[in-house]
Amino acid sequence: MTITQRILVTGGAGYIGTHTCVELLNAGYHVTVMDNFCNSKPEALKRVERITGKVIHCMEADIRNRAAVAQALVQSKATAVIHFAGLKAVGESATAPLAYYDNNVVGTLRLLEAMDECGVNTLVFSSSATVYGNPERLPFQETHRLLPTNPYGRTKLHIECMLRDLQASRPQWRIAILRYFNPVGAHPSGLIGEDPRGVPNNLMPFLSQVAVGRRNHLNIFGRDYSTPDGTGIRDYIHVTDLAIGHLRALEHLDKTTSSHTAGQCLELNLGTGKGHSVLDLVQAFKLASGRPIPYQFKARRAGDIAEFYADPTLASQLLGWAPTMNLQQICEDSWRWQRMNPDGYRSA
Ligand code: NAD
Ligand code: UDP
Repeated sequence: MTITQRILVTGGAGYIGTHTCVELLNAGYHVTVMDNFCNSKPEALKRVERITGKVIHCMEADIRNRAAVAQALVQSKATAVIHFAGLKAVGESATAPLAYYDNNVVGTLRLLEAMDECGVNTLVFSSSATVYGNPERLPFQETHRLLPTNPYGRTKLHIECMLRDLQASRPQWRIAILRYFNPVGAHPSGLIGEDPRGVPNNLMPFLSQVAVGRRNHLNIFGRDYSTPDGTGIRDYIHVTDLAIGHLRALEHLDKTTSSHTAGQCLELNLGTGKGHSVLDLVQAFKLASGRPIPYQFKARRAGDIAEFYADPTLASQLLGWAPTMNLQQICEDSWRWQRMNPDGYRSA
């Protein structure tokens, strides 16, 4: 089997990107990161080097700059791309949709054009379970209808469509579309983790900031869902498990020939298949941190869904991949990162 040795990672300085870079470097890949640092810091890549003892090549550039992407592909001699770069805040996407379409859809278009021009045909793309929208049935299988309910999700759906059309027209391309459920946790070293700007929108970073004393209490949005404890249920997956899923996808694509793809992208859920409620998370985090987590119940958050979790069977069958970390380990790793870096990378 040939191993794809040289990878260009767009958005590699971000939360999932840094964790994936660690796993790639540890597995012996050469890694070049392209990032414009609109939602990350160069310090994050220094930490990746510290964890792995390996050098990471970084190019500060925007993926919408096609010439810069082509230059990075040529200079790095990349044989594959893992594409994380994108804007990801659901609420912001509703107030600034054009910025989201420009960054996510146009950015991916420019990246694909540069890849096509340079003859780099292997791509792993960060999609999101948001593309499914409201569940017709649970758990979500990859065949579920795709009907996202917000502009962010629609940018991911547009990109998926673009990738399916590209794959159908180019037998030599090998494309994996990975639909993430709720990535949480941090590297066990406590050196890298999620570092949101401003007030976190997502549960885990908010919870961590309450535990560390940056915020007074957690607002729990809704206690009247038809779930066992009345709070919302999600499929929380450790970011390292998720990162390893990208390596397995790359290995799988490496073994794939045009007769295997049959003009189709590989489309996979990356989730645990287990749902946990907001109160489950509060309880697990309290135990992990030994700190009190004061909370108040509030009205449901607009657009929220009661339950959302994956059927990860296909990823398990095709990639031989399965998440290994449970909720308690996830909370312990999140807490270590938060405790060691109370202000994120600004603490450095
Ligand atoms: P992140 O914001 O931490 O990382 C994204 C990185 O991309 C950042 O370093 C940012 O600076 C960079 N970037 C953004 N636009 C760019 C551009 N035009 N050119 C170059 N660099 C650019 O986000 P993350 O949580 O690591 O998410 C990575 C990917 O996974 C995103 O595409 C996101 O939509 C997707 N995703 C994330 C989640 C989640 O909950 N974190 C869930 C599903 C899917
Ligand atoms: N949530 C909450 N308080 C918060 C943030 C989130 O109660 O401050 C709830 C939210 O209503 C949902 C769950 O936690 O039920 C996960 O929310 P998150 O935003 O992390 O993920 P998403 O809803 O995008 O899957």
